Amino acid sequence: MFDQLDISSSVTKEVTFKSSIACEGIGLHCGEKVRMKLLPAPAGTGIIFRRIDLLTCNSLDAQADSLNQISIHASPAAVTSTQLGTTLTNEFGIEISTVEHLMSAFAGCGVDNAIVEVDNAELPIMDGSAEPFLALIEKAGLRILNRPRFAWRIKEKISVHDGDRWAYALPHNDEEDTTQAIDVLVDYVDPAIGKQRASLHVSPQAYREHVAPARTFCYLSDVEAMHARGLALGGSYENAIVVNNGQIENKGGLRLENEFALHKALDLLGDLYLLGRPIQGKVTAFKPGHDMNTRLARAILDNPDKVELVSVIDTEAADARELA
Ligand SMILES: [Zn+2]
Repeated sequence: MFDQLDISSSVTKEVTFKSSIACEGIGLHCGEKVRMKLLPAPAGTGIIFRRIDLLTCNSLDAQADSLNQISIHASPAAVTSTQLGTTLTNEFGIEISTVEHLMSAFAGCGVDNAIVEVDNAELPIMDGSAEPFLALIEKAGLRILNRPRFAWRIKEKISVHDGDRWAYALPHNDEEDTTQAIDVLVDYVDPAIGKQRASLHVSPQAYREHVAPARTFCYLSDVEAMHARGLALGGSYENAIVVNNGQIENKGGLRLENEFALHKALDLLGDLYLLGRPIQGKVTAFKPGHDMNTRLARAILDNPDKVELVSVIDTEAADARELA
């Protein structure tokens, strides 16, 4: 079903969608219906969110200005809040929240350029995982563009800390290794979660099988407190794993044995993809969250002596040549 997404594991050029595609769902925080549309974008565009609910225009000139004002370019510098999700804000103060699961799906299947139209201040939460977004991207199809793709290659350790929590980006031991490896550890008091680890080399296949299905999670005790603050109004058993004193409250239980750690890996990948390019190196994190993830993304940009931009090599073609 997802065969056409596999092109992204070895393409050396940028990728966008073949066609536009729309979906709708509920905003986790507002609890309202949100419509979202993914549109192809030219090479060099990056990922742009467009708040079409704020579009006001009459003439074509006004439309160009207005489009600019409601457009939010995904980048680590645009992050303005990391409370219960990642929020981006543009220079005109226009916000878009909960971008991390869609950004993660883009990272997982290597979408470089996209326009994401949304008619609300947040993206739809869907089922709390990235699987519905992957299915949407699969339906739209992927197109290879005529521009070389680059990656951030980690040359020296870059780290961020917050108390006992930390995240590192490390160079590969093997200089030939061009993969992005992710290693996430979580440690929760509640025995339903406890200590878990998610460790993988990112590829479209590994992402689809192990990362995309992992849902977000919360404690039952936190839900009422969040509702009282006007947060998570759209939250339900349909879009989150609900944990309560050592029990999973959802009828179907977990989708994956280490679903909690895998969801943290999903978030980490999505937040790091604000960099707009894949990472070549190993990212390892202990008790990560959106604040830590986006700080690591900023640290990668702020340490140009410890990273380099390299063109993505077609390793599979190179391997095939070696075998031949
Ligand atoms: Zn998440």
